Amino acid sequence: MNSQAASVPAAAGHDSGLSLSYGYGTDRGLRRELNEDSFIASDPVFAVADGMGGHEAGEIASGMCVRALAAMPQLATGERSVTAAVIQQYLMKADSSIREATGARAGTTLTGAVVVEQMGMPYWLVMNIGDSRTYRLSQGQFAQVSVDHSEVQELVDAGEITPEQATVHPRRHVVTRALGAGDETEADYWLLPVEEGDRMLVCSDGLNAELSDEHMFRILSTVGHPQDAVDALIQAALRNGGRDNVTVIVVDAKNVMNDGGIATTAPRPGSDAEDEITLPRSQVVEAPRPATAGEDESGEPADGRE
Ligand code: MN
Repeated sequence: MNSQAASVPAAAGHDSGLSLSYGYGTDRGLRRELNEDSFIASDPVFAVADGMGGHEAGEIASGMCVRALAAMPQLATGERSVTAAVIQQYLMKADSSIREATGARAGTTLTGAVVVEQMGMPYWLVMNIGDSRTYRLSQGQFAQVSVDHSEVQELVDAGEITPEQATVHPRRHVVTRALGAGDETEADYWLLPVEEGDRMLVCSDGLNAELSDEHMFRILSTVGHPQDAVDALIQAALRNGGRDNVTVIVVDAKNVMNDGGIATTAPRPGSDAEDEITLPRSQVVEAPRPATAGEDESGEPADGRE
């Protein structure tokens, strides 16, 4: 397993005081010969790409995708000033370089959260193409933020199958959008205010195909340090079969300042941040569940990029 802990205190110039600690890891799993997942975990960008296409082409596609994000100038400075429009530009570059390199025989999913600050307030800018997933544990509620681009999600949306039936459907792995392949390459974006104690989970489908939402929620709400939570999630996926590559990033938010520079745990009422930028198909799925995120401790500083 490739995993390290990282802690990033608020750098000078971050208005909100927000400090992030995070962990990450990836595992080939027990059945696949190659690990075709790629990821980037480097403040302010936390993202997972799941490459598709045999003979290492998937690995090329997912690698190109995260390297395109790593080329954003904000990665060098740690500035939290990325916008959805900027991300979209870099993803379009990734899309054409993947097509060029693989002859459109390979593609990749992408999902994750980018920390952005607007008027001194921190937000999670969540992005998604395909069926990797970004979840959020916030104020005791665990919910998938990203909405899959998959055949089974379309069947669920149409009311033809239940979410439970989708998890065992024979066509559950068919994605309807990807970077580098097919006609549909546009990402969806969501903008959510960061709440004190938020814990984000970004993962490839090798995690959520092996673990129920309840199982992931139980681990995330009981294991304190983000790296320990990552390791526990990956181990649980391997114990349940490890049929696919598994990649996991967990990001914790602390010292979130509200207006007036006072850190508080009170939920912000009716925040309507989505008005501030244009976001296609915005949707947040929230399933209230009775628990709270565990405390964490900071690990050693590390360069989280892969
Ligand atoms: Mn996968």
